Amino acid sequence: MKVLVLGSGQLARMMALAGAPLNIEVLAYDVGTGHVVHPLTQQVMLKGLNTAITYANVITAEFEHIPHDILDACEASGKLLPTTTAIKAGGDRRLEKKLLDRAEVANAKYQLINNRDDLERAIETVGIPMVLKSALGGYDGKGQWRLKSSQDIEPAWQEIETFLTATPDQAIVAEEFVPFDREVSLIGARGKDGSIAIYPLTENIHCNGVLGLSVAQEENQALQDQAESMFRALAGSLNYVGVLAIEFFEVEGKLLVNEIAPRVHNSGHWTQQGAETCQFENHLRAVCGMPLGSMALIRPTAMVNILGEDSLAEAVMTLPQCHLHWYGKEKRPGRKMGHINVCASSSAELKTTLTELAGYLDPAAFPALNQ
Ligand code: AMP
Repeated sequence: MKVLVLGSGQLARMMALAGAPLNIEVLAYDVGTGHVVHPLTQQVMLKGLNTAITYANVITAEFEHIPHDILDACEASGKLLPTTTAIKAGGDRRLEKKLLDRAEVANAKYQLINNRDDLERAIETVGIPMVLKSALGGYDGKGQWRLKSSQDIEPAWQEIETFLTATPDQAIVAEEFVPFDREVSLIGARGKDGSIAIYPLTENIHCNGVLGLSVAQEENQALQDQAESMFRALAGSLNYVGVLAIEFFEVEGKLLVNEIAPRVHNSGHWTQQGAETCQFENHLRAVCGMPLGSMALIRPTAMVNILGEDSLAEAVMTLPQCHLHWYGKEKRPGRKMGHINVCASSSAELKTTLTELAGYLDPAAFPALNQ
């Protein structure tokens, strides 16, 4: 089986690693250069989208901000999974909000903003405090403004007005500020036959809008059930095939969807060491029409993101429960360079090991470990 991934970053790389034992060959389409590359070495294997489409049995994506002409060409081949509807919704907060409303899953109150009148309407209907998010191109907290009081309105609007005119078809989604207790995500897969398998919820700690730490949750059946029913509603409404991630705000035991990612997700990297079958293998199984693998948690596990660092103290590798994954990327401040999966035989031991690990890491570079 040959799977072409739109995007040539770490997610394609980890799909390639997970696909090898099943004899699934994964190639990556670099949307920037138009070349098909090897996901591990970045060596150019083929040139041009049409050659890539012909070569592959299945086409999937590792990110949602893909030019629509590329998506449409892939969809026309009949090989793209999940569908363009799901991928486009992941990359446009307007479509995402419509999708959430249509599937009747709870999400933060919102108002679309295209001009100053819309902003005034949002102030009335959504209220302050408010979070303003760009409809297109926003991820990891980028393209966001916060209105904490009415004094923030004018300065924010000046920036937003310039921002709106700079990109055609751009808009803002104004969202109520959610006073969440914590952020969690749910990752599951839906197969071609409609079968669904879901991992346990993951608690996520973000710093400056970027994920720092994810911890697989062991017991909270009520919350898990809530999240799973939203997953089923969304995946069913999209006739979704593949891994789908949903990020939630938890407020007093109730979940509100923050956003969806129609792909494997950073908060699911722990599954490589903590679940019977990892998210990368399950995504490949789903899009290739194979049975889904068990998503059972096999031991308490957490994932620590490595941001903007390309080396760590060697002692990290001496910790037997720590598993290091580098992405082979060029170092840039704040860039996702790799992650460490930390396993334990109990939640108490997991906490101890995370503290031990933190002792070997620069606290400024790993703020989520010091919260
Ligand atoms: P996002 O890119 O939408 O995931 O936003 C990045 C981070 O900003 C989230 O992980 C939250 O910590 C925070 N955030 C986003 N939307 C809201 C909201 N409506 N209320 C409170 N915090 C938010």
